[in-house]
Amino acid sequence: MPSSRRLHPRTLLSSPRGSSRVASSVSTRGTTLYGPGTSPCVAPFAIRDSACSLQILRMGHWAEERLASRALPDMRKNKALFLDRDGVINVYHPYVRSREEFHFREGIFELCRAAQSLDYLLLVVTNQSGIARGYFTESDFLELTEWMLDRFGEQQINIARVYYCPYHPVYGVGRYKFDSPFRKPNPGMFLRARTDFGLDLAGSVLIGDKLLDMDAAKAAGVGTKILLRSGPENIDAQEDNFFVSDSLDDIRCRFFSPPR
Ligand SMILES: [Mg+2]
Repeated sequence: MPSSRRLHPRTLLSSPRGSSRVASSVSTRGTTLYGPGTSPCVAPFAIRDSACSLQILRMGHWAEERLASRALPDMRKNKALFLDRDGVINVYHPYVRSREEFHFREGIFELCRAAQSLDYLLLVVTNQSGIARGYFTESDFLELTEWMLDRFGEQQINIARVYYCPYHPVYGVGRYKFDSPFRKPNPGMFLRARTDFGLDLAGSVLIGDKLLDMDAAKAAGVGTKILLRSGPENIDAQEDNFFVSDSLDDIRCRFFSPPR
């Protein structure tokens, strides 16, 4: 389809793979179906760009994504700031499932704005085994994500994409009991993002609060790994292959200050 062709905003693009690329190649408007294909190992998948009005309908593994009138992520940015969610974006509590339990960490908006100003693409990579365990549903997670992205949008911060893994190899229930290559410490989400955005992972940064975040980023080849202490894993020693910090403000000052 020619790249100059514009689609009606309500056009439905359906494809088991690559529908987002189809949508972005023809228009910034449209409705896409993101799907994992036939194997659960290719779920999870990105759910949307942050400032659009999204209506998610769940159909098994499929999510309907309504891209309203907003720009797609800037594909020219080839470095990313990967953010774990629980313990980095929000204060750590086990299995956060509602807005009432979701408290943004101090300094997260300032950090994201600083990274954004330095041309980092902002991406979220989050294990969500609470889905696998049956504590909440994927719809619950997606609704909370929608709300979270709206809060970022209000702060003029564009989270380009959210990757999540709803599986657990041991405690998963039903189809969610699965040893997914996307579940950290496996590197799947990072590698998928590299493919989606043409990222230079060596020039990218991860902030996580667990050793499994560090391990996943290391396995993917992410160049800079930062462990933010959040409570569940109090790591005292400075490790060789990642940095340790106690605050997002400290991370912003050390890693995302504009060059002088
Ligand atoms: Mg975490």
